[in-house]
Amino acid sequence: MSEMENPVVLSVVIPCYNEEEVLPETVKQLGELLNNMVAEKLIHPDSHLCLVDDGSKDRTWEIIQELSAQSSQVRGLKLARNRGHQNALLAGLENAEGDVLVSIDADLQDDITVIRTMMMEYYKGHEIVYGVRKKRTTDSFFKRFTAEGYYYLLSKMGVNIVFNHADYRLMSRRTIEALRRYEEVNLFLRGIIPTIGFSTAEVYYDRAERFAGESKYPLKKMLALAVDGITSFSAVPLRFIAGLGFIIFIFSMLISVWALGVRLFTDEAIPGWASSVLPMYVLGGIQILSLGVIGEYVSKIYMETKRRPRYFIERAAGQSLEGQSELARIREQIST
Ligand code: UDP
Ligand code: MG
Repeated sequence: MSEMENPVVLSVVIPCYNEEEVLPETVKQLGELLNNMVAEKLIHPDSHLCLVDDGSKDRTWEIIQELSAQSSQVRGLKLARNRGHQNALLAGLENAEGDVLVSIDADLQDDITVIRTMMMEYYKGHEIVYGVRKKRTTDSFFKRFTAEGYYYLLSKMGVNIVFNHADYRLMSRRTIEALRRYEEVNLFLRGIIPTIGFSTAEVYYDRAERFAGESKYPLKKMLALAVDGITSFSAVPLRFIAGLGFIIFIFSMLISVWALGVRLFTDEAIPGWASSVLPMYVLGGIQILSLGVIGEYVSKIYMETKRRPRYFIERAAGQSLEGQSELARIREQIST
């Protein structure tokens, strides 16, 4: 294959939030993998890891600095504060310099040897390669149930999403440049990337336990991501409300006709308490619910219109940004 004689530079992008326990092992394993792939001429010797410290409170950034001083394979970015997994990932994707980017979590839950398979798919001409989990036996029942139910719900609402694919994927330079043109602030990469198009492929793997440390995705963050995923991509909840309103309207018309019929054609007058008070409660509830859903969208519009920057890079480690004046460096960082 001609491509193999001209292997591409691979950047592996890894968002890290309080990952001091796993980071050295992750970097060791991925470093070995890169070396093997370079030896096989599957990737260029300049291939590297891009570790994005998402405002960690532990020694994550110190470790990244140490590792990048030891090896030219390791580069790092430090975000000015914690911006969440999706933003950290985006910072890495937008700033890593490889021809091909693979994003992966820091905790070694995703089988790293799949990166080789992803590269093979890339050389076959696919520009986005999705890593898809075969089974979720290592996740708790609760996590599995909620995650799979959520994917199902999303697809029912018309969000184009790859089932059981998280953020373990390969993207070519072209698709990264395409991603850059999306300016939305509420990021849900899993939903956005399938809308880019290009030739795509899927590779399958088993998901393991976290290598060390605890999940950095507590229920609260998971729910926030889930709500973002729906409201950033789908107007189905709004349509559902509209439909509900319509049905209730028809129903109340029928009731009125019936009430009028009783009044005109029978002697049983119904000055009932229930018939006048209950609807107030029912409609009140529905109105509040509707307002809640509309409010969710309005808040999205509000956030989007502000066009706030999604992250700032505070510092860089490793080769990439070296040799520039401090001013130029800060200007460049702030503008990205
Ligand atoms: N992460 C991050 N910022 C956050 C939370 C998580 O960069 O605010 C990173 C984390 O370091 C890990 C990845 O996102 O590399 C996925 O997190 P985790 O493994 O805790 O999620 P889970 O696998 O439990 O869904
Ligand atoms: Mg994990």
